[in-house]
Amino acid sequence: MDAFTIKLTDLEKGVENFDFYFEAEDINDISSDISNNKSNKTHVFINARKFDDSIYLEGRITGNIELICVRCLEKFNFKIDKNLQMFFMEEDFRPEDDEIELEKKDLSTFYYQDDVIKLKPHLLDIIALEIPQHSLCSEQCQGIDYDKGFGEENEQNDIDPRWQKLKNLKLNNP
Ligand SMILES: [Zn+2]
Repeated sequence: MDAFTIKLTDLEKGVENFDFYFEAEDINDISSDISNNKSNKTHVFINARKFDDSIYLEGRITGNIELICVRCLEKFNFKIDKNLQMFFMEEDFRPEDDEIELEKKDLSTFYYQDDVIKLKPHLLDIIALEIPQHSLCSEQCQGIDYDKGFGEENEQNDIDPRWQKLKNLKLNNP
Protein backbone atom coordinates (compact mmCIF):
# COMPACT_ATOMS: atom_id res chain seq x y z
CA MET A 1 0.00 0.00 0.00
CA ASP A 2 1.21 3.48 -0.87
CA ALA A 3 2.11 5.61 2.10
CA PHE A 4 -0.36 8.32 3.11
CA THR A 5 -3.29 6.78 1.29
CA ILE A 6 -6.53 5.26 2.54
CA LYS A 7 -8.36 2.88 0.28
CA LEU A 8 -12.07 2.57 0.70
CA THR A 9 -11.61 -1.17 0.95
CA ASP A 10 -9.60 -0.46 4.12
CA LEU A 11 -12.83 0.86 5.65
CA GLU A 12 -14.93 -2.25 5.34
CA LYS A 13 -15.64 -2.25 9.04
CA GLY A 14 -16.77 1.38 8.84
CA VAL A 15 -14.15 2.69 11.24
CA GLU A 16 -10.42 2.27 11.06
CA ASN A 17 -7.30 3.84 12.58
CA PHE A 18 -4.19 4.78 10.62
CA ASP A 19 -0.69 5.90 11.55
CA PHE A 20 1.49 7.78 9.11
CA TYR A 21 4.99 9.14 9.60
CA PHE A 22 6.69 12.05 7.86
CA GLU A 23 10.47 11.97 7.86
CA ALA A 24 12.90 14.85 7.31
CA GLU A 25 12.99 14.30 3.54
CA ASP A 26 9.33 15.38 3.31
CA ILE A 27 9.22 17.97 6.08
CA ASN A 28 12.40 19.89 5.28
CA ASP A 29 11.08 20.96 1.86
CA ILE A 30 7.98 22.66 3.34
CA SER A 31 9.66 25.95 4.25
CA SER A 32 13.08 27.59 4.18
CA ASP A 33 12.56 28.38 7.89
CA ILE A 34 12.93 24.67 8.63
CA SER A 35 16.48 23.50 9.33
CA ASN A 36 17.95 20.56 7.45
CA ASN A 37 17.98 18.49 10.64
CA LYS A 38 17.67 14.82 9.75
CA SER A 39 15.69 14.13 12.93
CA ASN A 40 12.78 16.36 11.92
CA LYS A 41 9.67 14.20 11.90
CA THR A 42 5.97 14.09 12.62
CA HIS A 43 3.49 11.38 13.45
CA VAL A 44 -0.01 11.51 11.99
CA PHE A 45 -2.78 9.57 13.69
CA ILE A 46 -6.04 9.28 11.80
CA ASN A 47 -9.39 7.82 12.70
CA ALA A 48 -11.48 7.30 9.57
CA ARG A 49 -15.22 6.77 9.47
CA LYS A 50 -17.15 5.77 6.41
CA PHE A 51 -20.60 7.25 5.84
CA ASP A 52 -23.02 6.70 2.95
CA ASP A 53 -21.49 9.29 0.63
CA SER A 54 -18.50 10.64 2.50
CA ILE A 55 -15.52 9.72 4.64
CA TYR A 56 -14.88 11.64 7.84
CA LEU A 57 -11.32 11.81 9.09
CA GLU A 58 -10.24 13.14 12.42
CA GLY A 59 -6.85 12.88 13.96
CA ARG A 60 -3.78 14.55 15.30
CA ILE A 61 -0.39 15.57 13.96
CA THR A 62 2.43 15.66 16.51
CA GLY A 63 6.14 16.05 16.12
CA ASN A 64 9.30 18.04 16.52
CA ILE A 65 10.60 20.30 13.79
CA GLU A 66 13.76 22.36 14.05
CA LEU A 67 13.29 25.93 12.83
CA ILE A 68 15.75 28.73 12.17
CA CYS A 69 15.08 31.98 14.06
CA VAL A 70 14.62 34.87 11.60
CA ARG A 71 16.30 37.32 14.03
CA CYS A 72 19.34 35.50 15.42
CA LEU A 73 19.57 32.63 12.87
CA GLU A 74 19.94 30.15 15.76
CA LYS A 75 18.13 26.82 15.45
CA PHE A 76 15.40 25.96 17.91
CA ASN A 77 12.90 23.17 18.42
CA PHE A 78 9.28 23.73 17.43
CA LYS A 79 6.65 21.34 18.71
CA ILE A 80 3.78 20.66 16.39
CA ASP A 81 0.52 19.41 17.89
CA LYS A 82 -2.49 19.93 15.67
CA ASN A 83 -5.91 18.30 15.57
CA LEU A 84 -7.32 17.72 12.13
CA GLN A 85 -10.78 17.17 10.71
CA MET A 86 -11.44 16.49 7.05
CA PHE A 87 -14.39 15.39 4.98
CA PHE A 88 -13.74 13.48 1.79
CA MET A 89 -16.36 12.98 -0.89
CA GLU A 90 -16.17 11.21 -4.20
CA GLU A 91 -15.07 13.40 -7.10
CA ASP A 92 -18.56 13.10 -8.67
CA PHE A 93 -19.97 15.11 -5.77
CA ARG A 94 -17.71 18.09 -6.45
CA PRO A 95 -20.05 21.05 -7.05
CA GLU A 96 -19.79 22.74 -10.42
CA ASP A 97 -20.60 26.15 -9.02
CA ASP A 98 -17.36 27.84 -7.98
CA GLU A 99 -18.97 29.74 -5.12
CA ILE A 100 -20.34 26.60 -3.55
CA GLU A 101 -16.96 25.02 -3.88
CA LEU A 102 -15.36 27.86 -1.95
CA GLU A 103 -17.82 27.42 0.89
CA LYS A 104 -17.15 23.72 0.96
CA LYS A 105 -13.43 24.38 1.12
CA ASP A 106 -13.94 26.38 4.30
CA LEU A 107 -15.45 23.28 5.82
CA SER A 108 -12.38 21.26 4.90
CA THR A 109 -14.14 19.14 2.30
CA PHE A 110 -11.93 17.35 -0.19
CA TYR A 111 -12.50 14.91 -3.00
CA TYR A 112 -11.12 11.52 -3.91
CA GLN A 113 -11.06 9.42 -7.04
CA ASP A 114 -10.90 5.70 -7.75
CA ASP A 115 -11.79 4.77 -4.15
CA VAL A 116 -8.43 6.05 -2.91
CA ILE A 117 -7.91 9.01 -0.57
CA LYS A 118 -4.46 10.52 -1.11
CA LEU A 119 -3.60 12.35 2.08
CA LYS A 120 0.01 13.38 1.61
CA PRO A 121 -0.50 16.86 0.05
CA HIS A 122 -3.30 17.70 2.50
CA LEU A 123 -1.24 16.67 5.53
CA LEU A 124 1.79 18.62 4.30
CA ASP A 125 -0.48 21.67 3.87
CA ILE A 126 -1.66 21.38 7.46
CA ILE A 127 1.93 21.13 8.73
CA ALA A 128 2.96 24.10 6.56
CA LEU A 129 0.18 26.23 8.06
CA GLU A 130 1.42 25.41 11.57
CA ILE A 131 4.93 26.71 10.86
CA PRO A 132 5.03 30.34 12.08
CA GLN A 133 5.37 33.03 9.38
CA HIS A 134 8.25 34.62 11.26
CA SER A 135 9.83 31.93 13.39
CA LEU A 136 11.41 33.36 16.53
CA CYS A 137 13.43 31.33 19.06
CA SER A 138 11.69 33.51 21.68
CA GLU A 139 9.60 36.68 21.71
CA GLN A 140 12.51 38.39 23.50
CA CYS A 141 15.09 37.37 20.91
CA GLN A 142 17.65 40.19 20.67
CA GLY A 143 18.82 39.19 17.22
CA ILE A 144 22.34 38.32 16.17
CA ASP A 145 24.87 38.63 19.01
CA TYR A 146 27.69 40.53 17.31
CA ASP A 147 29.82 40.49 20.47
CA LYS A 148 29.90 36.73 20.64
CA GLY A 149 33.32 36.53 18.93
CA PHE A 150 35.08 38.66 21.55
CA GLY A 151 34.87 35.90 24.15
CA GLU A 152 36.97 36.18 27.33
CA GLU A 153 38.46 39.54 26.61
CA ASN A 154 35.02 41.07 26.53
CA GLU A 155 34.09 39.47 29.85
CA GLN A 156 37.19 40.89 31.58
CA ASN A 157 36.66 44.45 30.44
CA ASP A 158 32.91 44.21 30.76
CA ILE A 159 32.79 47.08 28.30
CA ASP A 160 31.32 46.90 24.85
CA PRO A 161 34.27 47.50 22.48
CA ARG A 162 32.10 50.00 20.63
CA TRP A 163 32.08 52.20 23.77
CA GLN A 164 35.79 51.72 24.52
CA LYS A 165 36.73 54.59 22.20
CA LEU A 166 34.34 56.94 23.98
CA LYS A 167 35.86 56.00 27.33
CA ASN A 168 39.37 56.75 26.06
CA LEU A 169 38.19 60.12 24.77
CA LYS A 170 36.92 61.06 28.20
CA LEU A 171 40.15 60.03 29.94
CA ASN A 172 42.28 62.04 27.55
CA ASN A 173 40.19 65.12 28.12
CA PRO A 174 41.91 67.45 30.66
ZN1 LIG B 1 16.41 34.18 17.94
